[in-house]
Amino acid sequence: MSGSSRRKRVRTRNSRVLLFLLAILVIVLVIVLINNNKNKGEDEENKVEEISDKTAPELVLKEEKAIVAIGEDYKAKATAKDDIDGDITDKIKVSTLDTSKEGEFDVVISVEDKAGNKTEKTQKVIVREQLDNGLPVLMYHFFYDNSKYFKEDNNWLDINDFDEQLKYMTENNFYFPTWDEVSDYIDGKIKLPSKSVVLTVDDGDASFFDLAVPVMQKYKVPATSFVITSWYGWRYNPELEYVVWESHSHDMHESGANGKGRMVNWTYDQIVKDLKTSSETLGGANVFCYPFGHYNNNAIKALEDSNYILAFTVEGGRVNKNADKFKLPRVRVSDGNSMSYFKKSID
Ligand SMILES: [Zn+2]
Repeated sequence: MSGSSRRKRVRTRNSRVLLFLLAILVIVLVIVLINNNKNKGEDEENKVEEISDKTAPELVLKEEKAIVAIGEDYKAKATAKDDIDGDITDKIKVSTLDTSKEGEFDVVISVEDKAGNKTEKTQKVIVREQLDNGLPVLMYHFFYDNSKYFKEDNNWLDINDFDEQLKYMTENNFYFPTWDEVSDYIDGKIKLPSKSVVLTVDDGDASFFDLAVPVMQKYKVPATSFVITSWYGWRYNPELEYVVWESHSHDMHESGANGKGRMVNWTYDQIVKDLKTSSETLGGANVFCYPFGHYNNNAIKALEDSNYILAFTVEGGRVNKNADKFKLPRVRVSDGNSMSYFKKSID
């Protein structure tokens, strides 16, 4: 046997061993990889289980009793939040309600999250005849209690009378439409139920916040505060329940040269600037109350161009369908008027 053929045989054996070892290595690698993937899959399964949604959404009804006019669709005033899905208010469902006849009904309001957890609540709904004699928008100013605040003229209302008025409205299920609903009512887009009323309080002074707001909260009755923002804008507090913040101008509650309000003396640009400041101070006001009730075409154009949708004068009367949205009348509430006078003014 020659030396070269022996070397050749040795080399062949070595490469067979090497191949064998390589094959084993590949097999081990494959097993490790498969096992790894299996574990990963199991881990992922566990994870999915951990974050799976088992909590039903939170459903909040905004009204104790809902009130709707005959023939109108009932729209639930409710919100829904889920711990996993977030805000799911748009998923709220309402059981069918026949609004063709008067009465008191229960509807079921429900909401379901993506995982199928469901929350249900019952809402009382009063279906009532339509408002057909105009909407009273009440005008208040100041309040007195004969301890901290005292009557100066008939624009000052005894806080006990205010309490009695709100008690009456609550016990008789009066409906308090939003400004958007008032606007839609004027446009003929919706019908309001009878016994609808809106409360407005001019100027936004301390007696309103100290005396009237606690009464509104006690009876859960909303009222709009028309604030003169350069005087009382610092009181703006969006957290204050039942107060709707709207504008009585920023700094136009002063007389001009002719004794008339600044709003009918100032230029268009001055008015627009004032309205913008007032609206910004109040987090986006778009309903207005003319200082002293003074207005002209210039003032109206400035309001329209500044995205205000409604404006109130101090003229007496109710708001009717097709009313001029920038010359709206109100019903004045004066001190010393009897309760039966008050009832007549809102019924
Ligand atoms: Zn005023």
